[in-house]
Amino acid sequence: MAYQLINGKQIAKEIRLELKHEVEQLKAEGLQPGLAVILVGNNPASETYVRGKIRASEEIGIHSQLIRMNDTITQEDLLSKVRELNEDPNIHGILVQLPLPDHINPDKVIEVISPSKDVDGFTPINMGKLVIGQRGLLPCTPYGIMQMLDRTGISLEGKHAVVVGRSNIVGKPMAILLQQANATVTLCHSRTVDLPHYTRQADLIIAAVGKLNLITKEHVKPGAVVIDVGMNRNDAGKLAGDVNFEEVAPLTSAITPVPGGVGPMTIAMLMKNTVSAAKAIWQR
Ligand code: NDP
Repeated sequence: MAYQLINGKQIAKEIRLELKHEVEQLKAEGLQPGLAVILVGNNPASETYVRGKIRASEEIGIHSQLIRMNDTITQEDLLSKVRELNEDPNIHGILVQLPLPDHINPDKVIEVISPSKDVDGFTPINMGKLVIGQRGLLPCTPYGIMQMLDRTGISLEGKHAVVVGRSNIVGKPMAILLQQANATVTLCHSRTVDLPHYTRQADLIIAAVGKLNLITKEHVKPGAVVIDVGMNRNDAGKLAGDVNFEEVAPLTSAITPVPGGVGPMTIAMLMKNTVSAAKAIWQR
């Protein structure tokens, strides 16, 4: 079966271009959106993610500030820095790159980020708003997947979506957004008995687990749409998803690659959230 390769890289580029134009206009009106990224320690993966976020900000015209902190920093000092950024009028988005060192409780750090500057959409206030369907800042990865589906013309109304993974940053908010778009949603996780039983009934599978090749052809109904969130290293050390792409892709009607699928969308939506946050703060 011929399948559509959903080009997240291209869609993300379009979104970044739209944002660039919007930021030019905002700057002309006197508003330059600003993003502060806090990086604690020097985890190599975090360094790469942060670099990507700063690069995207610069390209769009968002003022970015990278705040590096030693991994021996105390939780209280980190909280003070976040509070300082909450008050900074030039900063509209605050992102604390996870993971944090073991002696720091990430929940405590996220809790002090002002919900209006919470461009990751992780604070209890923004999560709560998402659940009750109020406007807030949405978590970037599920938001990016919704945009990708929308811009690819994949309708969700009445479809059966099976989300595999129930983390606070991906699986759980994904399930909520999909049901708000009128899909019927099943949420699977590590205690699900007989995962293929559920995924085989899906019109749309979202794999957000972090296990290389977990989703095989046995998991997929012919014609399904498959979105692969996973970021794993394969035996050759290359980035690869949760889906066994080679055997699954021919069964699908559309599928995202890894890399070049969900990853670039996540960064694009971080940029979109920063611009939205700046506009909302400015309007107040
Ligand atoms: P977490 O580790 O927080 O959550 C993984 C989820 O998968 C859990 O809910 C877990 O279940 C479930 N799970 C584990 N094993 C199985 C299994 N065998 N069958 C079914 N479900 C299982 O991961 P994240 O949600 O943070 O990330 C998931 C993946 O997505 C990772 O590879 C991560 O790197 C990637 N990622 C990619 C992003 C991107 O932009 N492309 C952004 C964010 C994440 P339980 O709750 O029972 O433990």
